[in-house]
Amino acid sequence: MPFTRSAFWSIAIYLVATHAHANSPCAEYAAKLPNVKRDLCEAAQLQPAGPRSVNGQALWVRDVKPDNATLRVLVVGAIHGDELSSGAVALHWIQMAAQPPVDAPQVIHWRFVPVLNPDGVLSKPPRRVNAHGVDLNRNFPTPNWERDAKVYWEKRTGKDPRRWPGPKPLSEPESRFLHEQMQSFKPQLIVSIHAPYGVLDFDGPSVPPSRLGRLYLDQVGIFPGSLGNYGGIHKGVPVVTIELPNSTRTPLDAEMRQMWLDLLRWVHEKVAVQNGVAPGMPAPTSHRAP
Ligand SMILES: [Zn+2]
Repeated sequence: MPFTRSAFWSIAIYLVATHAHANSPCAEYAAKLPNVKRDLCEAAQLQPAGPRSVNGQALWVRDVKPDNATLRVLVVGAIHGDELSSGAVALHWIQMAAQPPVDAPQVIHWRFVPVLNPDGVLSKPPRRVNAHGVDLNRNFPTPNWERDAKVYWEKRTGKDPRRWPGPKPLSEPESRFLHEQMQSFKPQLIVSIHAPYGVLDFDGPSVPPSRLGRLYLDQVGIFPGSLGNYGGIHKGVPVVTIELPNSTRTPLDAEMRQMWLDLLRWVHEKVAVQNGVAPGMPAPTSHRAP
């Protein structure tokens, strides 16, 4: 059978369509994440990082890097797949990072991983744990993990299946990916977004932010294998853990913006000065129109 022109175009259209789908998670994210329209997600220009989740979902990142960036900040959402608002806020913040305040110095290289646990987000219903049933935020290699994570899970959580730390530290592709990001990107600050406790937690050196928007600092505890424990306490990289007040609704757009501006101000005032980056920089006060 001859290879016709229409057959050629059918194949070409098929390849373009499947390629486009493989190059964006935005149809799924817009369907799952609250307050995320397809356009907002597409504008985030997420790139596949390479590694995949247990179920084979790509892990997506977005870098926003001004030419003279000197400070590296890693922002992570949806470590817990049922905290849908956390992935949504990360996507909104990508837009804000890409449209910075006119009077703010552009010194921050942002790396966003808006959804670290896509299998949890995409499962029906969404699940806290990954597809192996592991709580990724208990799977980081804190000292004495083998003893402490198991004891904590058995004694303190009563073997809660939502909080299983996994068979060994970094047993999961998603936590290994984030660990690898910490080693290669070498963030000087990590911002980890969760829900629904409505507070701010902080681990590590430096002075914590007292508030972000309506969220106030309330250091609630230390868990074996958590990102805050591993990064903040054992690696000396400050970790701001944001607990949004609701898992299935984002804060209002104005509140998300205020949280972002408060985060920027704190980063500039505290972290940048501590790292010897342009001390005395003015705090951002206004935002460029989108
Ligand atoms: Zn969480």
